[in-house]
Amino acid sequence: MHEFSLAAEVLKIAGKEAGKNNARAVNEITIEIGNMSGVEISTFRSALEMLSEGSILDKTRLNLIMIKGKGFCRRCSLEFEMEHRTDTCPACSTFPEEIRNGHEFRIVSLLIEEE
Ligand SMILES: [Zn+2]
Repeated sequence: MHEFSLAAEVLKIAGKEAGKNNARAVNEITIEIGNMSGVEISTFRSALEMLSEGSILDKTRLNLIMIKGKGFCRRCSLEFEMEHRTDTCPACSTFPEEIRNGHEFRIVSLLIEEE
C-alpha cells in the first residue's frame, strides 16, 4: 500500500501547484523513481490513475523515469550499477560504502495548463 500513499502525496503536491498558478489542468507530470526505491511501477501507475479520477490530474500524462541504482566502493574507487540493495562491488564483492542512486522518488516537473 506504499504506492497508494505516494500517489496521494503526488496528487496533493500537484493540486497545490495548480492552485498556485490558477491552472485548470495539469498536462504532464514527470516523476523519477529509483530502481531500489521499493516502488512497484505498475501499482503506482494504477494507484495514481484511481485516485486522480475527477481531480486536477485526471487525463494528465504520467511520465515515469527509472533511475538506475549506483553504488560506490571506496576500497576500489569504483562506481557500479546496482539492481538490488544486496548487490556488491563487482571487483571485491563487498557491500558498497555509498549508495548514490536508486532510492529516488521525486516529482521533476509539472506541465500546467494555464487559464
Ligand atoms: Zn570494491
